[in-house]
Amino acid sequence: MRRWNGWGDDTREYPLPEGAAAFLEEAAGPGQPPQDAALEDVIAAVPESRLPAHPLVTTDAETRVRHARGQSFPDWMAMRAGRFGAFPDGVAFPISGEEVQALIQYAQAAGIRLIPYGGGTSVVGHINPLGGSDPVLTVSLARLNRLESIDTASGLACFGAGVNGPDLEAQLRAHGFTLGHYPQSFELSTLGGWIATRSSGQQSLHYGRIEKLFSGGVVETLRGRLELPDFPASAAGPDLREIVLGSEGRMGVITQATVRAARLPEYEAFHAVFLPDWGRAQAAVQAIIQAGLPLSLLRLSTPVETETTLALAGHERLIGALEGLLRLRGVGEDKCMLMIGITGRAKTVKTALGEAVDIARQHGGVHVGQTFGKQWIKGRFDTPYLRNTLWERGYAIDTLETAVSWDRVPAMVDGLEAALRAEGEDAGERIHVFTHLSHLYPIGSSVYVTYLFRLAADPDETLSRWQDMKRRASETVVALGGTISHQHGVGTDHAPYLPAEKGALGMETIRALYGQFDPDGILNPGKLYA
Ligand SMILES: Cc1cc2nc3c(=O)[nH]c(=O)nc-3n(C[C@H](O)[C@H](O)[C@H](O)COP(=O)(O)OP(=O)(O)OC[C@H]3O[C@@H](n4cnc5c(N)ncnc54)[C@H](O)[C@@H]3O)c2cc1C
Repeated sequence: MRRWNGWGDDTREYPLPEGAAAFLEEAAGPGQPPQDAALEDVIAAVPESRLPAHPLVTTDAETRVRHARGQSFPDWMAMRAGRFGAFPDGVAFPISGEEVQALIQYAQAAGIRLIPYGGGTSVVGHINPLGGSDPVLTVSLARLNRLESIDTASGLACFGAGVNGPDLEAQLRAHGFTLGHYPQSFELSTLGGWIATRSSGQQSLHYGRIEKLFSGGVVETLRGRLELPDFPASAAGPDLREIVLGSEGRMGVITQATVRAARLPEYEAFHAVFLPDWGRAQAAVQAIIQAGLPLSLLRLSTPVETETTLALAGHERLIGALEGLLRLRGVGEDKCMLMIGITGRAKTVKTALGEAVDIARQHGGVHVGQTFGKQWIKGRFDTPYLRNTLWERGYAIDTLETAVSWDRVPAMVDGLEAALRAEGEDAGERIHVFTHLSHLYPIGSSVYVTYLFRLAADPDETLSRWQDMKRRASETVVALGGTISHQHGVGTDHAPYLPAEKGALGMETIRALYGQFDPDGILNPGKLYA
């Protein structure tokens, strides 16, 4: 069963490898396991539902608890400390577009706020009820999860929008296709959620972001049904898919989505290269991406992320041998790990790998083959389980992300890391911060920062520490010319910073656009914009 207060299936654990506990203590100080709330106590505190009865709506308390929060840091604090604030007054699990439309009409007639819910993996407060006097209905798309049709000649597949990553891939693979969209939340996040948040998968270099994969579909709105045809391309005015992408539940409920699937690749492999320092490593990846090679993944870790990844991977003997080899080749303590993925026709992509490795070598890189790549691909969806383990040992982990042009990447990495560390120093705490570049473009890169810190004895103190770090880091993103999100979206946590990049006219346009579909502001209020 899915964990109610953490990540993933409650039968799966991520035990800390040997040596990792000592590494954490050295990096952030000794952790104190927190006192988590019990599910029964949280359920007992759920207030009476304010919803009028409806045959599609359950007001069962546990179901409401399980749909009240996502996966942001404040969500974790709320779930673990049992301080939820608001709960949805009910949850519905429609099985058709008609049922979704009936629920929308019910919400409108009774002054109910409606939150579309995919996998609940939002890390920015997208699916949380915000409290207030109006009742809240959460509409889960979980039962709209089937492959409706597939056109194998064109690679177009139409799904119920609530399908999650593994189910979507399994249904496509049965026909010899893949979507290739692999966010780290793949296990639980859904197609509709990916579209509504403009998600990016780990192999977007080859398959494209969700913007490229989303070909058409159906959105149920307060003004009726909007159907988006799936043309290969069109010059017929503005593309309405663009207003669905990133709509964060404010425009309507996406019930069906047609995606552009690819035939299963003939060949796929992930190789690691180690570069001697961060400066040379950045120069290498910039040159590789600008060479336009058909790669599927480039992921470059800073020296601290490289060291942390190796420490948390276990395999001490293997890593000791690797470090000895690297030292002989001039790659020492400041080493940066670069993962290179290739996906596609064997001959073409092996040639591309060779060219990428050659470029890396010109910057002092040492190619170490597939061992680390195989480990990474095997465990890439397990890593979120580490968050459960760390929490239980008294450590919190969170991430921040943005994207900037290449000239701003070094300043953004330094600025974000310094902002988080400085906030820690002010609180008398050590913040263990590390960064990678994982979505690269010829004109720039995403910057993805992970930070680990100790939980305070008092949950309010931990939350306030996180709020200070988040505020300082978000202000740094804005000041250094980055987008407030490259892939996680806006929700509530990033909403205060959106006007800085959209401008007053831009914000007015977004409000007017979604107001056209939902003039009374019934759908997911307070998310994306106030
Ligand atoms: C461990 C972890 C790793 C992550 N890694 C990545 C990553 O690599 N790349 C990435 O892009 N993101 C990542 N995320 C963030 C998150 O998974 C994405 O934002 C994802 O797209 C959310 O999908 P979901 O189905 O869980 O949506 P939810 O969290 O349920 O909802 C998100 C938003 O979309 C709206 N929505 C959902 N479904 C619909 C629908 N059918 N119609 C209308 N609106 C809808 C909701 O109202 C809400 O505003 C990660 C999150 C976690 C916890």
